[in-house]
Amino acid sequence: MNKGTVFNIQKYSLHDGPGIRTTVFLKGCPLNCWWCHNPESKALAKQVTFTKKLCIGCESCLNRCENNAIDLSRENSIFDRGKCKRCGSCSEVCPTNAIKLLGKEMTVAEVVNEIEKDRVFYEESEGGVTFSGGEPLMQHDFLYQLLKKCKQKDLHTALDTSGFTDWHILEKAAKLTDLFLYDIKHMTNEKHLKFTGVSNAPILSNLQRLALVHSNIQIRLPIIPGINDDEENIVATGEFISAIGLRNVSILAYHHTGVDKYERIEEAYKLPNTLEPTHDEMQRIARILEAFRLIVRIGG
Ligand code: SF4
Ligand code: SF4
Repeated sequence: MNKGTVFNIQKYSLHDGPGIRTTVFLKGCPLNCWWCHNPESKALAKQVTFTKKLCIGCESCLNRCENNAIDLSRENSIFDRGKCKRCGSCSEVCPTNAIKLLGKEMTVAEVVNEIEKDRVFYEESEGGVTFSGGEPLMQHDFLYQLLKKCKQKDLHTALDTSGFTDWHILEKAAKLTDLFLYDIKHMTNEKHLKFTGVSNAPILSNLQRLALVHSNIQIRLPIIPGINDDEENIVATGEFISAIGLRNVSILAYHHTGVDKYERIEEAYKLPNTLEPTHDEMQRIARILEAFRLIVRIGG
């Protein structure tokens, strides 16, 4: 698989591993977390989105679409999803970026070329490249080739993963990855299923196996008030991480960034009333985890 679907390449990232990094976001995710702040990454296929407040009614999109898939008089979405071929042609003529095409097919060489442009920053800051998503292991053949090329070019590689995949896929990636950023979202399977759409069983068992073969794993816990921030869950998480011999944990506070993206992709946001956790609340959670002799960082 020499080509894959990328939805963003973010330069100068400071929160996705050490130093200055380029984060490559691959499209597609098997999870459907209620708090996801990158909902446009979930679908593997390309998508077109519309932001009503940016539209000036010029009709350029209407004239460009060969599939008669646009109706500007519609209340919310202007697209007839049955007719739209997601070609992105309308986005090219929209003067205000009201229409956007999410996802771009890129070759391994094109992505690596983009990454390499900032080599000087990685060298000065001990940074590198981070592959994120979505879930980057959804496009595992493409990812392997990217990781392999980066290793050949002596670039530090990090993989931001939910761990929800088959063990052999993760194991193969582990050989090409310098640092894992591995998420744990809930220790109770029933709640994990409810709030992410999938079981936590493969995530936890993959992490146990990964800890035996890889020495650089940073656990990331998104802290979502009312969902996974109760003492029972934090204690269970601390016990589990400690029992498999891992030490480094980042706790990431829930935030509202990304809520408007849901409207654009025509999905309802499921946590409209959830508040961001306070500094004291994050400190409380850090203290619980530290009791398991974990090194806890608040933030990425
Ligand atoms: S993405 Fe292509 S098919 Fe869909 S509305 Fe735009 S121009 Fe038409
Ligand atoms: S091209 Fe853009 S600004 Fe013009 S009508 Fe279409 S969506 Fe609106």
